[in-house]
Amino acid sequence: MLSVPTSTLIETVADLTAERDRDSLEGSVAQLLRAQLGASSVTYMRLVAGEDGARLWPVLRATADGTQRLRETGDPRLLPAVSGSHARCLDERAALRLSTRDAPRCGYLFPVLSEREPIGLIEAVGVDAMLPPEREAAVANLLRIYRNHLALLDYGEHDTLTSLRNRRTFDADFSRMLREQAVVDAPADVDESRTPAPQDAPHWLAVVDVDRFKRINDEYGHLYGDEVLLLLAQMMRAQFRPIDRLYRFGGEEFVVVLSRTAIDVARSPLERLRASVEARTFSRVGRVTVSIGYTRIGPLDDTAGAFGRADAALYHAKETGRNQVLGWEALVAAGHLAPKSNDAELELF
Ligand code: GH3
Ligand code: MG
Ligand code: MG
Repeated sequence: MLSVPTSTLIETVADLTAERDRDSLEGSVAQLLRAQLGASSVTYMRLVAGEDGARLWPVLRATADGTQRLRETGDPRLLPAVSGSHARCLDERAALRLSTRDAPRCGYLFPVLSEREPIGLIEAVGVDAMLPPEREAAVANLLRIYRNHLALLDYGEHDTLTSLRNRRTFDADFSRMLREQAVVDAPADVDESRTPAPQDAPHWLAVVDVDRFKRINDEYGHLYGDEVLLLLAQMMRAQFRPIDRLYRFGGEEFVVVLSRTAIDVARSPLERLRASVEARTFSRVGRVTVSIGYTRIGPLDDTAGAFGRADAALYHAKETGRNQVLGWEALVAAGHLAPKSNDAELELF
């Protein structure tokens, strides 16, 4: 086929821009690219910042049989570092054709660009080496539309002050996470005695609230208060892993969802955040502290239930001195908080 019918392109654009959910959008763009290129498979990779440089996190693969989500790893150090043709594609911010002389098939790499920087990479393999230029142009346009659509979604999903996700996106993210958790938790051979692998470990929800924030606003003014919120958001970004999700829930309250984290380690990143906030001198305001309440997310949880437990633990932290991290399950086990009647399925420890 030498050209792409206009109606097909319009349908493709309509399909793409109908998506409101970022994860489904990644699947759609991969499938649409695969169809346009006639590729045997297309892999979508997110770019994540590692301690020692950028790494690529393959999130899904689109083939003629459908779209398969790839298992997430809890540890970014296990992800491949960006190198070779991947690095070149990202540096040049341009599509790269990968071919061997005279081979009937070739591959393509496409950078995924947000408004500011590359955020991912798409790799297509098994493309006809004689792909007509019209197809290449159609694919370039498809990626431009994807980028514009992403920018619009970004605007609606993020808080304008801190650029963290906003409360509206939390509900949708939470329900999807539980659906995915149910799939991963399903295997019949669960052996309670072994240490859970990262894929089997539970998710956690933490509420982070600035202590005596009203006083900061009152003494130094709203602008300095805003600056504290901005710096806190930066510290949170630096503290947690790319697979964890950060939200600004309202005023001076933040929510962290820790993905797939074993029981004995869930507390440590939260405690690290608390300690690093306490240790920092905020330019004009000086010392700031945060209190954190957290809870394990159960397979039958809902947003209100999980948030309510973390918030109850946070309230307890505020009442008993502030500047501390308290887990709901431990507070219930110690008799400081009453278990909720519909939480019978939650394990206490
Ligand atoms: P506590 O330790 O009990 O949490 O005390 P607090 O003063 O932090 O708690 P409270 O919830 O009573 O006060 C929160 C204050 O946050 C009230 C409001 O003036 C302020 N605030 C809410 N949103 C913003 C914002 O976007 N910017 C700034 N600068 N202040 C905000
Ligand atoms: Mg507060
Ligand atoms: Mg508050």
